[in-house]
Amino acid sequence: MSDMSTETRSSSAGSVVKTDAEWKQELTPEQYHVLREKGTEYPYTGKFWNIHDDGTYTCAACGLELFKSDTKFDSGCGWPSFWAGIDHSKLTLQPDNTHGMRRTEVMCSRCGSHLGHLFDDGPKPTGHRFCINSISLEFKPEANATK
Ligand code: FE
Repeated sequence: MSDMSTETRSSSAGSVVKTDAEWKQELTPEQYHVLREKGTEYPYTGKFWNIHDDGTYTCAACGLELFKSDTKFDSGCGWPSFWAGIDHSKLTLQPDNTHGMRRTEVMCSRCGSHLGHLFDDGPKPTGHRFCINSISLEFKPEANATK
C-alpha cells in the first residue's frame, strides 16, 4: 500500500477521483477487486471481523473516517459489522440487485469505493447492520485517533 496523501486529488466537492490505472497502482489486487470491482472477501478471513479494540475504521482507499469501534458488534456473519456509521453523509447507499438478491450496497462517499452492504437485521438502537469487508477498511487505534 502506498501513501495516500501524495496521490490523492480532491475536487471542489471533496470527492477523491482517480482512474482505474491509478487505483490499480495504489491498491493491492485483493483491495482493488473488492473496493473498485465490488468484490466480497470470504467470511471469517478478513483482519477485522473478530477485533474488539477501541478506535476508528477508515476507508482503505481514501482514508475517510467511516466507523467507530463503539458501534461495532458481533453479528456472527464473519465480516466486521456496525450498527451505525460515524456520519451517514460519508456513506453512499444504492440498490444492488446482483447475484439474485435485493441488497443495499454501501460505498465511501468520498472516493466511491465499495465497502459492503447494509441490512436491516442489526441491533438496537438503529436496527442497521453495516456488513463491511475488512479489506475495505483500515483501523486507527484509539491512541492515534484524531478525535
Ligand atoms: Fe474512500
